[in-house]
Amino acid sequence: MLATSYRTAYNEDHEAFRDTVRRVFAEHLTPHMDEHEANGIVPRDVWKKMGDAGMLCMTVREENGGLGLDFGFNCVLTEELSYLGSSAGFTLQNDITANYFERLGTPEQRAKYLPGMVSGDIITAIAMTEPGAGSDLQGIRTTARKDGNHLVINGSKTYITNGQNADCVIVVAKTDPEKGAKGISLVLVDADTPGFERGRNLDK
Ligand SMILES: Cc1cc2nc3c(=O)[nH]c(=O)nc-3n(C[C@H](O)[C@H](O)[C@H](O)COP(=O)(O)OP(=O)(O)OC[C@H]3O[C@@H](n4cnc5c(N)ncnc54)[C@H](O)[C@@H]3O)c2cc1C
Repeated sequence: MLATSYRTAYNEDHEAFRDTVRRVFAEHLTPHMDEHEANGIVPRDVWKKMGDAGMLCMTVREENGGLGLDFGFNCVLTEELSYLGSSAGFTLQNDITANYFERLGTPEQRAKYLPGMVSGDIITAIAMTEPGAGSDLQGIRTTARKDGNHLVINGSKTYITNGQNADCVIVVAKTDPEKGAKGISLVLVDADTPGFERGRNLDK
């Protein structure tokens, strides 16, 4: 574990949070890491422990059920995960999906998902990559076509962090193939949506 006392990026509150993170990881994550790696999944009860300790979606504003902290707290958590060598997908929820919900979501979507994402009751994922499209995201083939007041999505995704236990997946799909990058949308797909299927758990 690196000594962090000489760095100026963090204040006392960040360092107090780091102590909490180390304590909670030591109790609930470190002893089970081999099992998580072997099974390729971090079980839901561990997510709950993280949520209970205030270690999920720390930047989410109070009115959306969060603590309204600065991004430095996310950085502390990411550093501590890295020191452990854990690939747990908490950072995806903390750093990426929470921001999509908070900045781009409707008030209804924020109310439906964010409090659960903070508490660890809701696990999220973002599905961009496809078997035939990675860095060049414009090459995705997944489409979302309007059908009345529904969207019908066709396509498959791969390498999705938290994909095996996500309750809600932000799916990147082409809604207007003529418009290039501007014709790509983010679609919220609850895992219990008819037709949604999880693939094989990849060793990644
Ligand atoms: C641990 C892990 C977690 C992931 N989690 C997610 C997730 O949650 N959601 C999700 O959607 N995806 C996820 N991915 C997929 C990840 O986003 C893709 O692997 C990434 O976009 C690269 O795509 P690719 O693997 O198809 O590689 P490619 O795009 O085929 O690239 C292969 C190589 O070519 C290089 N390359 C590509 N284009 C160029 C270029 N124009 N010029 C020069 N070099 C280039 C790349 O740097 C790379 O070295 C995850 C991947 C990993 C490994």
